Amino acid sequence: MAYRIPLSFPVFKGNEKSYTEQAISSGHLATFGPFITKFEGKLAKKIRSHQAVALNSGTSALHLAMVLLGIGPGDEVICQSFTFCASANPIVYLGAKPIFVDSELDTWNISPEILEDAILSRIAMGKKPKAIVLVHLFGMPAKINEILEIANKYQIPVLEDAAEAVGSLYDGQHCGTFGKIGVFSFNGNKIITSGGGGALISNDTSIIQRGIHLSTQAREDLPYYQHLEIGYNYKMNNLTAAVGLAQLEQLEDFVKSRRKINQNYRELFSNFDGISFQEENEDSHSNFWLSTIIIDEKKTGFSNDRLRILLLKKGIETRFLWKPLHLQPVFKEVPFYGGRISEKLFLSGLCLPSSSNLTYSDQEEIAGIIDKEILKSYF
Ligand SMILES: *Cc1c(COP(=O)(O)O)cnc(C)c1O
Repeated sequence: MAYRIPLSFPVFKGNEKSYTEQAISSGHLATFGPFITKFEGKLAKKIRSHQAVALNSGTSALHLAMVLLGIGPGDEVICQSFTFCASANPIVYLGAKPIFVDSELDTWNISPEILEDAILSRIAMGKKPKAIVLVHLFGMPAKINEILEIANKYQIPVLEDAAEAVGSLYDGQHCGTFGKIGVFSFNGNKIITSGGGGALISNDTSIIQRGIHLSTQAREDLPYYQHLEIGYNYKMNNLTAAVGLAQLEQLEDFVKSRRKINQNYRELFSNFDGISFQEENEDSHSNFWLSTIIIDEKKTGFSNDRLRILLLKKGIETRFLWKPLHLQPVFKEVPFYGGRISEKLFLSGLCLPSSSNLTYSDQEEIAGIIDKEILKSYF
């Protein structure tokens, strides 16, 4: 279904067309070509001091990152529960076991306190977790300093799922560059898109070298095909990289637009009792990939689902927040540490239209619909 006002639709107003035409004319559409190198170089330069490997999805980037961290059968990996399934699925691909941890209220990301409880509990049960997967949900940086302190204390590597946080900053530094490995996604509705794509980033050259090797079928540098280990076909292709490069050139622009959209929603909703937002703290600068709200039904008189349906009738697309993974049927056997924070956020939250080219009048229309519904609850 085509929405009149979609949740997050890509905007192609840069060099997408000309780069794509160049890629096609060059004949290089596969996993070798100048746009891949340019894309990786530009990405690395933007995030500073780190190297990047361009891959064909965020999920494959997470899978490869876990291979590079040595995760294998029988290992346990701690993962934020409040996230998209792709944060945890690769743990299962590798025969390892996810351990889910609840979120904290301000950033909606993994709770440092519960994280430490979970680590201590797993160690007491005889197994130290092999890695910690943290997520910057909807672009909002997690409490990185606190989490890194705990990770360092127990000597557990951090894998940063920054799929939604390309261009988000913490302490002035790019999300994705804090952990041993960071991962980005450039899927269709992310803040920048290459159609489908991802990247693995690290400041450890040996990890990057091995990542490149494994992502291209672990092919040895010989005139014939020789393999010493099992690799993956995970590299980004040159056509995709052409779109990705053009989008990357506009990243700052898109972050600015999405932050402005978030600011507009805050102002337009400022008189609405019972509607609140995901909050930055003084160290964090979200890309606000998606603007999200929490609805206190007791105050507004309507639920998140009621608002979703109301907006849908006007052709406006919204979406529930991620359903926490510990509540997913497929993960029902997975141990979970925490309470009901992420569950409550899921039950009362909604993602609002956030495309970089969303207009102010679209936002006024959404505010008008909410206003009318709040008024109704008084009568
Ligand atoms: C989108 C997303 C991914 C997966 O990225 P793909 O490019 O779609 O494979 C992983 N984690 C989170 C949190 C995401 O939002």
